[in-house]
Amino acid sequence: RAKEQGKNQAQFFDGKMEQTVCQKTMIETALYQAIEKRELKLFYQPQFDLVTGDMIGMEALIRWVHPEMGIVSPGVFIPVAEETGQIIVLGEWVIEEACRQIKQWNEQSGRSLQMSINISPKQFLQENLVNYITSVLKETNLPAELLDLEITEGVAVFNEKYTIEKLKRLKQIGVHISIDDFGTGYSSLSYLRKFPIDRLKIAKPFIDGITEVEEDAAIVASIIVLGKSLKLRVIAEGVETNEQLRILRSLRCDEIQGYVLGKPLPKEEFEKVYLF
Ligand code: C2E
Ligand code: MG
Ligand code: MG
Ligand code: MG
Repeated sequence: RAKEQGKNQAQFFDGKMEQTVCQKTMIETALYQAIEKRELKLFYQPQFDLVTGDMIGMEALIRWVHPEMGIVSPGVFIPVAEETGQIIVLGEWVIEEACRQIKQWNEQSGRSLQMSINISPKQFLQENLVNYITSVLKETNLPAELLDLEITEGVAVFNEKYTIEKLKRLKQIGVHISIDDFGTGYSSLSYLRKFPIDRLKIAKPFIDGITEVEEDAAIVASIIVLGKSLKLRVIAEGVETNEQLRILRSLRCDEIQGYVLGKPLPKEEFEKVYLF
C-alpha cells in the first residue's frame, strides 16, 4: 500500500509541476548569487517626443548576464523574484543604479532627461518605498521630477484606497507616475480620475494591431483622446514599424518607445548612440 502511495506520489510529481517547482527553486538560488556576483545589469531604451523628435528620457530594463546562460530576460526571473520577495532587494538596486546613472548622464550632457523605472506590485506595496525613494533622490541629488515610476493597473486591485494614498505620497515628493501596459489590466476606468498619475503607456498588443485590426486602432485612438482630456501624457510602447509610427503621429500620440526608434542597450552603447 505504501508502495502504491509512493508510486502515486512519484507520478504526481512527475511531469510539468516538478519541472516548474524545480526551475523556480533553481532561479531563486541563482538569483541570490546573481545579486552578490553583480550579474544584474540595466539596459536602457530611449523614449521620444513624437512632435519634436527629441529624446525625452529612457526606461531602465533589467537583464541578468549569466556566465553560462547568457542574457536572461526579466520575463523569466522577475515573476520568481516577485514570488520569493527577492524583488525588494533587486528593486532597490534598480532604483539606486538608475538614479545614479541619469544624474551622471544629465550632468555630463547638460540635459534634463527623465529615467523611467518599473515598480512591481509587491515593491509598490512595500511600506518603505516612499522613504527609500526619498533617500535615494537625496543621496544622488536627482530632481524628483526626472524620476518616473511605471506601475501597472494591477496595483489597484489590492486596495484602491491604499493605492491612492501611496500615489499621493509619491506625488508629494515630486516623482512622476506612469501606468504601464495600459488597457490590459484593471478593467475599471474610474481609477483614472482618482489616481494622481502623469502618463499612460499604451500596451504593446494594441500597437501591434494598429495597422491591421480596426478594433485595436479604435482603442489606441480612444486612449489618446482619453489621455488628452484628462491632461495626461500618452506614450505608445512596442512601436516596431514606420507605418505604426505614422498612424500614431496622425492620432497625435505624445511619445514613442519601441524598436523602430531604439532597442534597449547597455550603458556604454546607449551613451554612444544617444548621448555623446
Ligand atoms: P515593460 O515594462 O512593459 O517593458 C517593455 C518590454 O517591451 C521590455 O521587455 C522591452 O524590451 C520590450 N520592448 C520595447 N520595445 C519593443 C518593441 O518595439 N518590440 C518588442 N517586441 N518588444 C519591445 P523586457 O526588457 O524583456 O522586460 C519585460 C518586462 O519585465 C517589463 O515590461 C517589466 O514589466 C519587467 N521588468 C523589466 N525590468 C524591470 C525592473 O527593473 N523591475 C521590475 N519590477 N520589472 C522589470
Ligand atoms: Mg515598463
Ligand atoms: Mg509595458
Ligand atoms: Mg510591464
